[in-house]
Formats: sequence, structure tokens, C-alpha cells
Amino acid sequence: MDCLFCRIIKGEIPSTKVFENEYVYAFRDINPMAPVHVLVVPKCHICCADAIDESNSQWVARIFEAIPIIAKQEKLENGYRVINNCGEDGCQSVKHLHFHILGGKKLPDQMA
Ligand code: 5GP
Ligand code: ZN
Repeated sequence: MDCLFCRIIKGEIPSTKVFENEYVYAFRDINPMAPVHVLVVPKCHICCADAIDESNSQWVARIFEAIPIIAKQEKLENGYRVINNCGEDGCQSVKHLHFHILGGKKLPDQMA
């Protein structure tokens, strides 16, 4: 399976790592939409939020445990946004579950 984020996790494609543990890898988005734009991914291929169930939701829990640690590291004391794009209508472009952390400025309140 040729998955971009699986390859990034394995180090086959370079990325700017901001956090890593046994379950989670986080790196800077190549096309940042805010001063801080980090992608947080599970080290297990889950295609999208729609594929989360009780057999794999522990990976999602590990991601959400990592998010406040990353936010602190990135000095997002004033808040931030966590986004997941899912499927065609959600404009998900990489089919490996990931959460965007956006911050470092006041973000627009319009979501769609
Ligand atoms: P999506 O649109 O699927 O929610 O988000 C995919 C994100 O991955 C986009 O924000 C895009 O800029 C980022 N991205 C795509 N290819 C790469 C890459 O090779 N390296 C990094 N660091 N980010 C990437
Ligand atoms: Zn993958």
C-alpha cells in the first residue's frame, strides 16, 4: 500500500517532526494555513474518521492525549483549532487519518 503518511512515519519521506511517541507522529504541514499548522497522525493506517470503531479508537485517544502536549510545545496558550477532513465532501486529500492543529493567530470563525 502506497500511503504518503505511512511513508512519512517510516522516514521514507522527510518531514519536520514536532512530536513522536509509540503511537503518534506529528509534523509540520508542508502548506501551512496558520503560523502553527501541525498534522497529528496515528502510527497505524486508518483511512479516515469514518473508519474509527471500537477496534481502533485507542489510536484516536492517543492522538488526543498528544494534542495538548504539542499545543504546549508550540506555545498555543491562547487556544487553537483541531480539524479533521473526512472523505470526498470533507475534502480529505490524504487517506490516512490525521488531525490538523492550527493556531498562532486568531482564526476565522467561519467553518464552511
Ligand atoms: P487533508 O486535506 O487531507 O485534510 O490534509 C492533508 C494535508 O497534508 C494538507 O494540509 C497538505 O498540505 C499536507 N501534506 C500533503 N503532502 C504533504 C507532505 O508531503 N508533507 C507534509 N508535511 N504535509 C503534506
Ligand atoms: Zn497510511
